[in-house]
Amino acid sequence: MKLERIAVVGAGTMGHGIAQVLAASGCQVALTDVSASAVDTALSKIAASLERFCQKGAISQADKTATLDRLYPAGALSELADRQIVIEAASENEAIKRQIFQDLDHHCPPDTILASNTSSIPLTRIAAWTRRPAQVIGMHFMNPVPLMPLVEVIRGLATSDAVWQAVMTLARQAGKTPVTVMDAPGFVSNRILMPMINEAAFALYERVANAEDIDTVMKLGMNHPMGPLALADLIGLDTCLSIMDVLYREFRDSKYRACPLLTQMVAAGRLGKKSGQGFYIY
Ligand code: NAD
Repeated sequence: MKLERIAVVGAGTMGHGIAQVLAASGCQVALTDVSASAVDTALSKIAASLERFCQKGAISQADKTATLDRLYPAGALSELADRQIVIEAASENEAIKRQIFQDLDHHCPPDTILASNTSSIPLTRIAAWTRRPAQVIGMHFMNPVPLMPLVEVIRGLATSDAVWQAVMTLARQAGKTPVTVMDAPGFVSNRILMPMINEAAFALYERVANAEDIDTVMKLGMNHPMGPLALADLIGLDTCLSIMDVLYREFRDSKYRACPLLTQMVAAGRLGKKSGQGFYIY
């Protein structure tokens, strides 16, 4: 099954990047969001990103125009009934995602694949919100989507082989390297990354070293392009905390307890780059 008619629901940071790479790979992509202005902003960001690729000589002006022509704004979820796959990239909020999946399940034919870009909600739980658990799968893209080559493809308990294969092919067609991951808290990426960030926060909290030195150890000693505390600021400390809380809740293991410093910083509104202050000041 070749997937060519696609919809992306949620046109924020991730949704607009996902729409861009899929349109660039030749798919027809409908983009929708609860906020119409979010779709307009997303389409402008995509045009600007494609222009940067043109300036670097990575694509031609004709490629850029063709990609933009394959993207169009959609309105209500009921307009997505002709799509072969809908990729949900709305806010990481269970109530919001549940409503979206129930609405998509209602409006789309039974063979439409419903994918989620969730960072932390178990795919098997999402699948159970629908009457088509075999058609539900995770496509966990990385930020920024046009630049990051990985997609974690997450199989829920009931995801069918045909759906898994179609989504692996779609990810490759979009120029990504898909890795298959079985449904488990944090998948692979966040299960490893977030405890590392949390441990860096503990090292700072216990005054083992200052933030710059902790990051320098990981950059120069482990060859990481970015230190864990700077990376946490980029991701958002609220996002890091909520993923740690998911790991703690789902595994019921104290090794995933969030560092008190992380909790305090989120309570103080120091969310990282987006709020102007996190482990560093911006
Ligand atoms: P974001 O806040 O930038 O965008 C979310 C968008 O969803 C917003 O435009 C919002 O208006 C829209 N939205 C909210 N409710 C909606 C609804 N009912 N219907 C349609 N649209 C709705 O968030 P994001 O960073 O793009 O994250 C989106 C998803 O991707 C989340 O599940 C997140 O966990 C996941 N994710 C994020 C990152 C990251 O680094 N930001 C990385 C991987 C995965």
